[in-house]
Amino acid sequence: MYKLMTAGPTQVSESVRKALSTHRGNPDIDIEFLEYYKNLCLKFSKFFNTDNEFYILGGEGILGLESACASLTEKGDRVLVIDNGVFGKGFKDFVELYGGEAVLYTVDDRNPVDIDKLNEYLKKDSNFKYATVVHCDTPSGILNDVSAISKLLSSYNIMSVVDSVSSSFGVPLSMGEIDILCLGSQKALSAPTGLTIIGVSDRAKKSMENRKTKIASFYANILAFKDYYENRWFPYTMPIYDIYALGQAMDNVINDENVFERHSKMANITRETVKAMGLKLYTESGYSDTVTVFEVPECTTCDDIVSIMKDKHNILISGSFDYLLGKVLRIGHMGENANEKDVYETLLALYETLLEVGFDISKSKEEIFYFM
Ligand SMILES: *Cc1c(COP(=O)(O)O)cnc(C)c1O
Repeated sequence: MYKLMTAGPTQVSESVRKALSTHRGNPDIDIEFLEYYKNLCLKFSKFFNTDNEFYILGGEGILGLESACASLTEKGDRVLVIDNGVFGKGFKDFVELYGGEAVLYTVDDRNPVDIDKLNEYLKKDSNFKYATVVHCDTPSGILNDVSAISKLLSSYNIMSVVDSVSSSFGVPLSMGEIDILCLGSQKALSAPTGLTIIGVSDRAKKSMENRKTKIASFYANILAFKDYYENRWFPYTMPIYDIYALGQAMDNVINDENVFERHSKMANITRETVKAMGLKLYTESGYSDTVTVFEVPECTTCDDIVSIMKDKHNILISGSFDYLLGKVLRIGHMGENANEKDVYETLLALYETLLEVGFDISKSKEEIFYFM
């Protein structure tokens, strides 16, 4: 098996794997599970410094994004889709699927969304039910200041849906004015794939309850979870094994006092080393501490680097997709991946790989890896 250094799924710790494989009860009838679920949701509220309720949904990160749009959008609703990356633009599809009018606010993808410019835009047009924005747009690694953006939107009475699937637990965030916060299990939380966690504000819940038309989905209907505790009923059988594993992963994060410091340190080392080797980072500012994205050098291809890293060094990093396909490479230093041993090994392997494909590195190995 190779070392997993992608931007999700990430490495899963022994403690989480153990929690996953422990025999569990029946989530439909076990009160113990109901209490466990509720408690775990409260841990998310506390972690994001909010009283807003969280729900764990049985489905990958995408389910959270779709649920937010399905539950808020009514036919003809205008939705501002803030786009400076692949996932940013991707929200357009969900909005339109549920009958909304997606208005794209497309800006430079190499820098974070400029709050002042967004404000200028909203001064002219702020007739939106809600807006969508991505915290870390993983394919490019850009990090947007979603706290400031959601605050600004809120001042115009616009609700905000924030995709923080690949940044939360590696980068600090409070829920603040965010109306629906979307998280995932398999990125910096380092739990197995398959779960979405969403935080929902009272304002968003009210908006869903006051709809004129029904939510056009069962599985992606957030309101279906609203009174699960009182009714002792979930809309579908909860993936109990995955949820206990998620709980262990969450405890690991909570008990790790240096979680953000660790991410920041590993991110800085990765960025500095990649630059010292003569490679170019994709974004110009606003780097997420969860992933480093750099351009594929001209002398080689993305596939060649990924293959050599995997076949010769036993380390899996990844390319990207959509308009970045073949253009950039990504090292995911989030969650369990964010430790010195694995990050250093990955960087050393990248160095050897670059030499193998004939990339001209001007600095000496000692200069580049001075910190080791
Ligand atoms: C991974 C990810 C998602 C969820 O994608 P899945 O394929 O469902 O795991 C959503 N948004 C961002 C920014 C992501 O990185």
